[in-house]
This record gives sequence, C-alpha cells and structure tokens, in this order.
Amino acid sequence: MAATSHTPSAATSRRKAGRHRGEGQWAVGHFTPLNGNEQFKKDDDGLNVRTRIETIYSKAGFDSIDPADLRGRMRWWGLYTQRKPGIDGGRTAVLEPEELDDEYFMMRVRIDGGRLTVAQLRAIGEVSQTYARGTADITDRQNIQLHWVRIEDVPAIWEKLEAVGLSTTEACGDCPRVIIGSPVAGIAADEIIDGTPAIEEIERRYIGSREFSNLPRKFKSAVSGSPVQDVVHEINDIAFVGVVHPEHGPGFDVWVGGGLSTSPRLGERLGTWVPLEDVPDVWAGVVGIFRDYGYRRLRTRARLKFLMADWGPERFRDVLENEYLKRKLADGPPPAEPSNRWRDHIGVHEQKDGRFYVGFAPRVGRVDGATLTKIAELAAAHGSDRLNTTVEQKMIILDVARGQVESLVAGLEALGFQVTPSPFRRGTMACTGIEFCKLAIVETKARGASLIDELERRMPDFEEPVTININGCPNACARIQTADIGLKGQLVLDADGRQVEGFQVHLGGALGLQAGFGRKVRGLKVTSAELPDYIERVLTRFGEQREDGERFAS
Ligand code: SF4
Repeated sequence: MAATSHTPSAATSRRKAGRHRGEGQWAVGHFTPLNGNEQFKKDDDGLNVRTRIETIYSKAGFDSIDPADLRGRMRWWGLYTQRKPGIDGGRTAVLEPEELDDEYFMMRVRIDGGRLTVAQLRAIGEVSQTYARGTADITDRQNIQLHWVRIEDVPAIWEKLEAVGLSTTEACGDCPRVIIGSPVAGIAADEIIDGTPAIEEIERRYIGSREFSNLPRKFKSAVSGSPVQDVVHEINDIAFVGVVHPEHGPGFDVWVGGGLSTSPRLGERLGTWVPLEDVPDVWAGVVGIFRDYGYRRLRTRARLKFLMADWGPERFRDVLENEYLKRKLADGPPPAEPSNRWRDHIGVHEQKDGRFYVGFAPRVGRVDGATLTKIAELAAAHGSDRLNTTVEQKMIILDVARGQVESLVAGLEALGFQVTPSPFRRGTMACTGIEFCKLAIVETKARGASLIDELERRMPDFEEPVTININGCPNACARIQTADIGLKGQLVLDADGRQVEGFQVHLGGALGLQAGFGRKVRGLKVTSAELPDYIERVLTRFGEQREDGERFAS
C-alpha cells in the first residue's frame, strides 16, 4: 500500500500532477477541501459521530443534532433522515433539505455477503417491531432497511444487532459499503470458488477502520465464485468474479469502475487472476487508489468510474501493481457466459452436500418485522440455521434436508412467499421511493407490488424471464439501466394535461457477457395509471414478434 492513513501522506503529495490536477485528488496535492462534503469529512471523521449519538443526541433528542452530523456523518452509521410524510414529488427539487427532513431515520443494517443466521434474522425482526413500526425492506445490495427509527432508540438498536454479530457500520456514507456476495457461496453444487473467506477478511481488516473512512464517495464491492454471476459484478466499483485459470486453478477475475446513476458505466476487467487469499490485499489496493487519486472536487465525478474512464484498465493495473501492491499480478481469463438467465437462485436446488436451498420471492423486497420473525422460526423448524438475502431483493433458506423441503415450501407459501413465482414477481424490483426517500419524485414500492398483481392476472401464461426495475427518481437505486424494462420516476402529463406521477421508459438493458444499458425510448413516458397497459402491450408484442431463442433484452 502506498498510504495507510486516511490523511494524505507526504509521499502521495509529491506525486506528479496528472492532467486531472484540478479534480481534487489528494495524490496530486489537493488537500484543501473543495466542497461542503469534503469539508465536513475533514472536520471530523464520519465514524466519530457514533460517540455523539450515544452520549448526546440519543439523550437530548432530534433537535440537538449538529446539522453536519444530521445530513453528513450519520450516514457512516447507516442512518439517513427519511422524507417528511405528505410532501409530493413536485416539491422534491424546490424545498431545502431541512424542509424535507423528518425527525425519523431510515436505518440500514449491513449484511455482508447477504449471510444471516436464524438468530440474526430474529433480531432484525424484533428490532423492526419494537423500534421501526414493523418496517423492513430487503435492498438490492442484500441489506435490510428499517424506517421510522427515533434517534433516542439508536443505541438500544445497536446493542441488539451487535449482540448477534450484525452492524450498521459504514452501511452508508463515503466509505466501503456492504460487500455483496453470492447468496449460495459454499453450498452451490456448481460453484467455482467460495469467496466467503475473502469477504470476512475484508470486513475484519477494513470495515470501520480509519484507513478508508474518508473516500471521495461511496465504494461498492462484490465477490462471487458462482457461475451464475449473481452479484451484478458489472456495476460495482470493484468485483471479484470466479474463474478457473488454466495453470493456477480457481480464483478471481477483477472488474473495476462500474456504476450506474446519471453516468452509467460498466466495470472493466484488469485482466488479472487473483487467488482467494490475495483478494483482501487487491481490494485494499483498489480502495487506496480511489482514496488517493479519486476526484473530490465535484460530487458528480467522485465515483471510481470517472477515474477509470480517464485512466483505462492498463494504467489502473499498472498503478495498482507498482504503487500499492509492489508486485505483479498474474494474467487471467475472463469469466464464461453466465450459466443461467435468472441469477437469483429462486426455487428448490440441491446443495453440494446433498441438502437443499430454497429461494423465495417477497414482492419488491418488502417484508415486515413480524414476517421476518416468522421466516426465522420457519427456517429453524425445518432444521436450518442459515438464510441469505439476494441482490434481487429476494431471500434463500439454506441447509434443508430433503425430507423437510415440501413442508418448508408450504410454510413459505402460507406466509405469502412463492418458491415458483411468476416472472413478474421474480423479476420486478423497486427502490424506496416517495414513501421515505427525500430525493423521490414518485411512489415505487406499492406501485411495483400492484403492477406484479395486475400482470399476473392479465398474463398468467407468460413464462419468459423479464426484469422490470422501478426507480422513484433519476438516480439508479433499483438499477433501471440494466433491466429489460427500466422505469425512471418523474412527473408526466396525463391525457388531460395534468401533471401526475409517471415514468420515463428505458428498454433492453442487460447484464452478463452481453451487458449493456437500456435505451431511453425517446419521448416515451407513461403515467403510473397506464403502466400495466403499457407493459402488457410491450410483452405481448415481444411474444408475437420474437425469433427463436431471442431474449427480451436482445
Ligand atoms: Fe430514492 Fe431515487 Fe434512490 Fe429511489 S432511486 S431510493 S427515489 S434516490
């Protein structure tokens, strides 16, 4: 590593200026904070807010919170203020942040690799019911989010979560977010390599450490040795994808610089092969590059993808090897074509140890605390102590004996979760939306759930894999650019010329080896009310016109 502290070293400050001298990179001497976010991070490390929450804010209440903590550092502990109820989407862009802030928080529970024990899921269920009005959403990065959290209750929530090995540390903020991992790591019969030890080692060494607690912006990581390629590796800042090297055997191909939002970009391969034991060092080298060379002047250019766009993978690899790792990495092969069009592990599947895992589909990731507790009890009653969340907002119960599968499936269906869901239930995702998100323009979760119900009713025989991703604003929390049908929330005009909630349509996005972003259909905006009609039309036309073997995305 070239630098081991979050404070830029003299060595880094002596590096030659590149052509992007003016972008706020520490490595070329830009230590003077260039915007408000950089200033508050310099004033005090985001991680330090925990002490103030425990000793001041939770005792003196919401009004005692320093604004720089409220809208800045709280995120380092997974806390965002949620949207004040009753503010319509038309006012999102015109109100000041404090006018949108409710005095309740969203709290994100970090679930690295999506791995949960029964005791952990039970604890989240209890916290949800006691402190979060029963709310619980599974996110598209394997976390679980709670809402309606009061600052007074945060220390008690941490105590309950941490007692079972969960945390909210760096669940949000300009730091390494949750490390997503294959939800069937270590058990899948077709697995190339189990990345779990690498995820655990990264957590142990670096999460909550001052070394990476001041990055230019968020940093997203993924590790999967599944041939299904089940961690959306193409759109993470760094991803380790399982491959078999012809001489060295199973290891990982490294992808860097992916990300969505308003300037979407697919990650690029560095062309290296990394063995399991080297993953944490390579991860830390790439995060170090982001910390030192990442652009800090403009928030809109502060993701690693912009540095990768300027450097390209060859220069990036050269800096990684020579300045950070101090050694060369082996060249390696690319991953093969994903082995399945669906990447979510829904259904009943045999594990390599002869037991089974059972993936099931909550609608658009929405569950609730009481139901999470029931899922935990159901898993335990069927001999399982492990569950996983997926990046499709779904869940999996692991380690079920053959003789228990039928009863477990019946139990899940009694809770309203289908193990053989329709393509709509399986393939639809929605972000948080206007119910809680301060940036939202439209409602998403309830819209997504009713859309699923409506499409199931109208098209009971439709069987083609299809993904429908719904965002509440131009950001990309539900990955609209990578969906067959991506819906970007905005206000649109209805037939009578009234401004109503609706969506800009993107069609034909895909991940996998033929990855590409959906095309914005020029001028095509649908109102929320028109959505079922529109999607039914698109899918029916596709069914009528497609050629043999053609996928929706092609
Ligand atoms: Fe909020 Fe927009 Fe993200 Fe949805 S996409 S959660 S509305 S910021």
